[in-house]
Amino acid sequence: MKLISFMMNVDKNLKRIEFLDKGNYKKGTILGEDNKEFWVTYTHYRVNSKRYRLGFSIVDLSDKDYEVYILDSEKEPINKLTSISGKGIKIFYDSNDNNDPDVGSNASGVFYVGVFENGERIYVSPPIYVLPSSLSYGDYLEMINDLIQINEHLIEDNKSKVFLAGKGVQNLVEIGKTLDDMKKVLEKINANPAASLKAIPAKIKYDPKKAISPKILVEKKMYPFKNKFKGQMKVESVDIYENKIIKYLLNLLKKKIELYIQSLNNYKEQKKREIDIIREQNKKEIDFDSELGKIEKKLIDIKEDIKTIIKNNRSLENIDKDKDIKISFDIYKKASIPKSRVNGKIEDNKVILYCNFITKRENRFISLERSFYSYAVSPFENFQQSRFNAESFMLKFETSNLNELVFFIDEVIEREDFKNPIKIKALAKREYYDNNDPLCVRVMKNYTYGDGSPVKEYYINIKKIYSLNNKKVPEYSEEEIVEKLAPYLNDNYESIVENKRFLELYKKKEDNLSCYDDKINELKKAKSRLDEILNLDLFKEVKEEKLILKPTQIFTNDNNYKKIWQYFNALNKKIYFIHDFIDSNMLLNEKSYLIKSTHEIYEYWTFFKMIDVLISELKWRLKNKNEVLNNLNKYMQWDYFQGNLKAKLEHDLKNNEKIDLVIYFNKNIKSNDGKILRPDFTFEFRKDNRNCIVYLDAKYRNYREQGKEQWFKDIKDVAIDKYTKKFRDTENEPIASFIVHPDTNNEWTFYGGYLDDKLEKKFDMEGIPPEHKFGIFAFTPNNIQYFKNFIKMILEYHLELYNYCWNCGEIDNIEIKVEKTMGGFNKYHYTCKSCGEFWVKNHCEKEGHSLIKHLFNYHTPDTDKKYPWYVKCPRCGKNDNGENTTVFEELCEFPTFDPNIL
Ligand SMILES: [Zn+2]
Ligand SMILES: [Zn+2]
Repeated sequence: MKLISFMMNVDKNLKRIEFLDKGNYKKGTILGEDNKEFWVTYTHYRVNSKRYRLGFSIVDLSDKDYEVYILDSEKEPINKLTSISGKGIKIFYDSNDNNDPDVGSNASGVFYVGVFENGERIYVSPPIYVLPSSLSYGDYLEMINDLIQINEHLIEDNKSKVFLAGKGVQNLVEIGKTLDDMKKVLEKINANPAASLKAIPAKIKYDPKKAISPKILVEKKMYPFKNKFKGQMKVESVDIYENKIIKYLLNLLKKKIELYIQSLNNYKEQKKREIDIIREQNKKEIDFDSELGKIEKKLIDIKEDIKTIIKNNRSLENIDKDKDIKISFDIYKKASIPKSRVNGKIEDNKVILYCNFITKRENRFISLERSFYSYAVSPFENFQQSRFNAESFMLKFETSNLNELVFFIDEVIEREDFKNPIKIKALAKREYYDNNDPLCVRVMKNYTYGDGSPVKEYYINIKKIYSLNNKKVPEYSEEEIVEKLAPYLNDNYESIVENKRFLELYKKKEDNLSCYDDKINELKKAKSRLDEILNLDLFKEVKEEKLILKPTQIFTNDNNYKKIWQYFNALNKKIYFIHDFIDSNMLLNEKSYLIKSTHEIYEYWTFFKMIDVLISELKWRLKNKNEVLNNLNKYMQWDYFQGNLKAKLEHDLKNNEKIDLVIYFNKNIKSNDGKILRPDFTFEFRKDNRNCIVYLDAKYRNYREQGKEQWFKDIKDVAIDKYTKKFRDTENEPIASFIVHPDTNNEWTFYGGYLDDKLEKKFDMEGIPPEHKFGIFAFTPNNIQYFKNFIKMILEYHLELYNYCWNCGEIDNIEIKVEKTMGGFNKYHYTCKSCGEFWVKNHCEKEGHSLIKHLFNYHTPDTDKKYPWYVKCPRCGKNDNGENTTVFEELCEFPTFDPNIL
């Protein structure tokens, strides 16, 4: 008899069967007759949006009643297949889980099919390899390998990861040197190895002069004619403990270096992926390199202009005796001055600063408070008084003495003292509207104060500052002057600088990729050095055995062996290769593949990988390391272990505070209708007695094949309806509920930011701001960026831990620069001194909601804007106010002004 395999589609009533034509097989599929070495197919087999499953039919002329079973790798039956017959053939397939009719079993791995007759197995198929289709096969293997590495990281407290992440390749070059030294010594040992006498079976010639064993003597007596006897001969053997353990350790070292190469390739892939994501978000396809050049040029030009003025500073005090007056007055500051109210320009080798100050009742920020001012006309001796009657005034400062200008910006524009008046003594131009009120330009018709006095307009045209707040003008360095003035000479200065910082960060990330190559090359050199060593004749003769390292007479007394011992020790301190090493092949053998559902592997991998990323990338500490390690080992050795899987983590915060995080796997949680639900992962963040819950459910999907509707459905059904709505108004209500899956194309990741009309409808969220409360992201061994971004979103946006670098976990070494937006808001530029990350905390344009901008954002990028780091507000959908000049002073809360207080 023969068995034939194929892909088929069975309708819901299990009646109509359609066979998939071979021409439509997915790449790599091998099915058909059983004369092949193996059959290969995929889980989730979809072609032209139709699902196909694996089926078999028996080619046999007899009319026997066969039963067909799925067999495990030991060829033991696990699952009986359903049969349907019609048109003279009988078809067998796995009807379990008809809702998800994939390949028969949802497991990737290898299995067999066995045919039984009267309970006796009469046929076994070729092995059937089921490749996981939701993630690439490469990713699947990576996931398995990753578990081994995670195990290592945990054992070593991440030392190897820290080692690899270390700056430069110095460490690796040192390892190469040690290996070179080691090779020289081992060549000496190879020429003259330690050896012992070893008995081997041999035919021994009878020689009465030599010591002969009693056994041979007896034999000689019995068979006197015999001259050769079976016996033992002592020979010199190098197969001794010391040589064996050296070989064993060399092999461990080689494995470790191979693992490092793999790790580094992995990191490199991850970093590359991050760059790819940013590129994908760069919808306008801007050439970041040339853009950076342009921006730098612009900034240099602005600075050069300022420097030219400093150089030509004539410090001229060309007082115009007819027109100039000395003045002294106070102004009152009520709030920060929006950038939009101050404009600078360079003209005629001078800087002119225009300040348009409103003192209108509700929204003034600087005022004259209708106070008195003193003025003196040439020769500036007799000061007279006049009174400001203004609700708005213009102040213009025109000078080539940039020290005065910087001093003015410091003491007037940027000073944040709202209690004390600012005292100004200056030289100004007089206006000629009213000789007794020489700063007044005109009276505003139809406006009067409560006491009937007229409202006037003032133009304070300053030429020189004598003192501010009774302080003389200090000397500033050229650098200080340039830094301070540049932002006032270009409306978009802030956003130019901001864009430059993002572009630089992008470039840095790109440049860093090559440093991984350097490291990988060093490691490859080390590996080939090891191969040369292991090729020495000595090690060809030595058996490989797993041994425990212990000092022996030879290691302590033989000079060369002693050196080798020391080299191993030194290397181990650097790269920790001597410990219970798990054989990576163990996980890749047939048995491990079998019947472990890919979905399950994905869930477990996700759990352990999240912990690994939190520890090694974000500086969290694992408090129950032994428990986690123990469970990981059990899982990897396919031991049964029961639920209650959890990781307890903590992270330092500023001021000796801490944040705790417990991640539960499959925790039972009571919903608001009393039912128990079990999200795959429950995150419990705790800070200052505040508990924040986040649910994450793993979905083993290939959305490219399963389609956008499935994607919408997963978000809606699981993240929103199941794990958000069902916990509403309970203590288990989450701040966010997300889905994690292995489909890494950017379009399948969404952090619950801005919803357009279509998305609002899809998620049944019309009129409800999404605010990153639900979403979906990809996570695979080569794509940890989306997960990092998810954690960043929770910590930054939801828990408001803004002043930390959630790219590397740095808490203290962060530079925070406060900038003023056009509208007068504070905007924060953060630079992590530890990893170089740059990010901005700002507000959305209209409502003033917090927005945090990164190079790679969880907020939805605004595709109308030039750069991908312009984002839309997750509450109201408005942009940040980075680039334009829109003023939103009305947002500022100014104290109301009662003109009658004076
Ligand atoms: Zn950092
Ligand atoms: Zn908003």
